[in-house]
Amino acid sequence: MKTIKVSIVTPDGPVYESDVEMVSTKATSGDLGISPGHMPLVAPLEITSVRLKKDGKTEFVAVSGGFLEVRPDQVTILAQSAELASEIDVERAIKAKERAEQRMRDHHAEHTDFRRAELALQRAINRLAVSERRM
Ligand code: ATP
Repeated sequence: MKTIKVSIVTPDGPVYESDVEMVSTKATSGDLGISPGHMPLVAPLEITSVRLKKDGKTEFVAVSGGFLEVRPDQVTILAQSAELASEIDVERAIKAKERAEQRMRDHHAEHTDFRRAELALQRAINRLAVSERRM
């Protein structure tokens, strides 16, 4: 099976590096599936999961936006934050979700803090979903 090298990097350092058969994730323009031989591409990502298929198994990483770049032999994801499913602290994400929901209840929709809380809520929901590998 042909493979392509994938690196997921954050400001805190590398989170994932491996040769995989397929990378699936969600760009702002829609779902992306990258396998070896994919055309070069740069795309902004949603707060979403990255699914990495290798040897019949799929690994999941939660990413909080960023960019994906496809070059001939390499996919690079630069994300503000990224966690492997197994490394997600579920309790922390539940607390972050509750905090964000409370902030959204306390603020009017046009307030900038509302948007901040909305993004925090999306990150928390994404982490919870990835931790359960249900994306
Ligand atoms: P919190 O309010 O819990 O900090 P957040 O969404 O504001 O959540 P970020 O600013 O996105 O957190 O991330 C800060 C750092 O903490 C990053 O390194 C990120 O990978 C890590 N992180 C955040 N939430 C979790 C979690 N639930 N499990 C593991 N790591 C997490």
